[in-house]
Amino acid sequence: MKVLVANLGSTSFKYRLFEMSAGEEQVLAEGGYERVEDYGAVITDALETMEKSGAVSSRDDIGAVGFKTVLGRNLSGCVDADEKVLDALEGFAEVAPAHNPAYAAGIRQFREILPSARAVALFETAFYQWMPEAATRYAVPEAWHKAGIRRYGFHGASHKFIAERSAELLGREDVAAAARGLYQNGPVDVDQPLRVISCHLGGSSSVTGIRNGAAIGTSMGFSPQSGLPQNNRVGDLDSGAIPYASKALGLSMAEIERQLTKESGLIGVSGVSNDLREVKKAHDAGDPKARLAVDVLVHETRRWASSFLFPLGGLDAFTFTAGIGENNPWLRSAVCEGLEEFGVKIDDERNNSCKGVEGEISTPDSKVKVHVIPANEELVLAREVFRKLTSN
Ligand code: ADP
Repeated sequence: MKVLVANLGSTSFKYRLFEMSAGEEQVLAEGGYERVEDYGAVITDALETMEKSGAVSSRDDIGAVGFKTVLGRNLSGCVDADEKVLDALEGFAEVAPAHNPAYAAGIRQFREILPSARAVALFETAFYQWMPEAATRYAVPEAWHKAGIRRYGFHGASHKFIAERSAELLGREDVAAAARGLYQNGPVDVDQPLRVISCHLGGSSSVTGIRNGAAIGTSMGFSPQSGLPQNNRVGDLDSGAIPYASKALGLSMAEIERQLTKESGLIGVSGVSNDLREVKKAHDAGDPKARLAVDVLVHETRRWASSFLFPLGGLDAFTFTAGIGENNPWLRSAVCEGLEEFGVKIDDERNNSCKGVEGEISTPDSKVKVHVIPANEELVLAREVFRKLTSN
């Protein structure tokens, strides 16, 4: 079956076409457009390009289109991208303003232009559906909770891939199978627990605790604005700071929101860049603000990772993924520093030679296995869509 994965940003459209079968996963075509104003035009162009190149014999050759939707009001999971999905995306448009309106527009266009393909949405929140209620409930008044203000979690496709892949790397086929079937079967018990902490460190970052293939807690909360400091976004912030900043700095709510989403995180602390490569250069040149930005990122990664140790009751694997996690041995080493007591021992040579590829970077005698696992969210989408279509 040919599965097209559509990645929609507020002004971008990227796609990847997969051939999926029980024993085969192959990329047939990929492409993208920037500065998009009319999704319909670029979707039509992408379909024509795929037809011309022979990746598809005709449009009808595409069995399904998968959308990595971010969050929906009162809806999550891997579901048909129907009116309910559109309502859910629009209901939370202001919580994910860069993504929800784009996905709603893209889904509408796809359904019109490619009616023969099954449209499926995999919400980034889906991986967190089975988290304990205590891990999702904010201690807000009931009315706030009822309005949908709770911890949802994001980067679900990425962390789900880690759940599957880390179990495979540890030779735990029972847990790998449980992780693969999570959206069809929910969490399942296994004889011996497998406990993983997954660090997705990239343009935006999150840390998730995973037991037996299912999430038990995560650093991102109600919106992708929370948890670790991100490229331009603040991460966790005391709610008391907002009314105070409004008065003390004379800022409107819109301006507060702009500064916390565009001028915070790595760029906010370093004043240098929102890209860790540039911040690291300034750090190495002795820039104190850049040093602090790096220290804050490392501190927050460690703080969040450690917060899952007690709920998990121990640790078997610690993983790094996404642009920062895959490519920066120095940062992985800083995150894992002094953790021998907890069974985490990094092998410097293995760590330093592992960039952008999969690898085990712990010492052979490390009780906790530390892995680098390259993110591949498009493949996760294609797999989930394929699983959904072949399981019901
Ligand atoms: P996004 O979350 O936007 O998909 P990425 O996962 O690519 O972004 O992460 C972007 C971050 O990863 C940037 O801060 C960048 O510095 C870092 N990064 C990406 N590639 C490299 C690399 N080759 N070496 C060092 N850092 C990298």
